[in-house]
Amino acid sequence: MKRIIVAIDGFSSCGKSTMAKDLAKSVGYAYVDSGAMYRSVTLFCQRNGLIQNGVVDEDSLRERIGDIHIEFKFNEETQRNETYLNGENVEDEIRTLAVSNQVSIVSSIGFVRRAMVALQQSYSKDKGIVMDGRDIGTVVFPDAELKIFLTASPEIRAQRRYDELKRKGMEEPYADILENVKQRDHLDMTRAESPLRKAEDAIELDNGEMTIEEQRKWLLDIFNERVK
Ligand code: C5P
Repeated sequence: MKRIIVAIDGFSSCGKSTMAKDLAKSVGYAYVDSGAMYRSVTLFCQRNGLIQNGVVDEDSLRERIGDIHIEFKFNEETQRNETYLNGENVEDEIRTLAVSNQVSIVSSIGFVRRAMVALQQSYSKDKGIVMDGRDIGTVVFPDAELKIFLTASPEIRAQRRYDELKRKGMEEPYADILENVKQRDHLDMTRAESPLRKAEDAIELDNGEMTIEEQRKWLLDIFNERVK
């Protein structure tokens, strides 16, 4: 059976990472959450005073981008991949609304994207990888053998993010989350650098009315077809 690259792109809070993680686990592939990388850069900016009133100090960030080290480590206890920023586990902190509200500003900066894309490409040396994000099928791995583009309505996606934060004890008002989802969609689709768009050869799925189990089966069937 050949090893392939699976690219899962789509809108914010579409359940990309749930689908990607499930598939990676079922087929023994590595999983990389590219959004966590942009979130980590955003947290670094916030902690170091590089974002003031929603504006990034790009000159200072450019000077310090080499100081940002992002890694993923599998936590046996929680059974999940966790994100480390300069050696510190920031998995929960990067999911807060404070980071979500500024990540699309940071991810629109060209030199930030180039640094992250180079890192993302370095993970795929012997294929066997599932990566989710916004530009995986278009920019990071334009030759990926399987590309998925996920959509669902903003209201459904906001509800899912609300439920996820609540489960983690980080509840935020639903209206604020919905606003954030819509704003990120807009920024991600209209930015000049690698805007969010469906790759021509991607398979589109609206998963708004699907259960996680249905999505898992749908993706696994397509994957099995592709690796034959
Ligand atoms: O996937 P997630 O919602 O965690 O991504 C957070 C943000 O990171 C997105 O809203 C987008 O601005 C940015 N992102 C990106 N390119 C990717 C992954 C995420 O620009 N490949």
